[in-house]
Amino acid sequence: MLNIVLFGPPGAGKGTQSSKLVDKYNLIHLSTGDIFRYNIKNETDLGVLARFYIDKGNLVPDKVTIDMLQAEVKKNPNAKGFIFDGFPRTIPQAEALDVLMTELGTKVDLMLSLDAPEDELVERLLLRGKDSGRADDSNEEVIRNRIGVYNDQTAVAASYYDNQNKYFPINGVGSIDDIFEQLCSVIDKFN
Ligand code: AMP
Repeated sequence: MLNIVLFGPPGAGKGTQSSKLVDKYNLIHLSTGDIFRYNIKNETDLGVLARFYIDKGNLVPDKVTIDMLQAEVKKNPNAKGFIFDGFPRTIPQAEALDVLMTELGTKVDLMLSLDAPEDELVERLLLRGKDSGRADDSNEEVIRNRIGVYNDQTAVAASYYDNQNKYFPINGVGSIDDIFEQLCSVIDKFN
């Protein structure tokens, strides 16, 4: 199996690159943000709960997020591997992912981290908000809060993987194809 954590602040390009990586490496894409949005749209109990946090740009509590992620992974017993997009966002989530991967007889192979300057992230998200209809992409205050949450609560998760020599930062500014190539060149060393 090949299990990749795709990391970085909101607007860094994780979703765009995930869909290209999924095609190339035949992996299952699990975006916790997408799964929450699906639940919000379908007005499930999980969606109602998650919305309370997401609309403000705050993190959904770890227990809720971890339980959901575990269930999604287990729905794919024949996966060749996973791209985790937007998960883990905290150290407890990273620890829970390791426990889950061990249970399944596998491991996280690497974390690829995309980054871009804050003003560029805000600009990209506001632009995306015009088309996506995402409430959390349409309000600059919420966007800046999400970036602040990333800096204060999530960025530290990179050190968890860095300590295991699994952390690979990639510049998220540039053409989609150039960034994709850089991601692939790291992945191909593990594949
Ligand atoms: P994203 O689509 O990854 O930008 O996520 C959108 C929102 O969903 C985030 O701002 C959080 O409110 C919530 N969310 C997504 N993934 C997680 C996670 N791993 N832990 C906590 N909250 C999350």
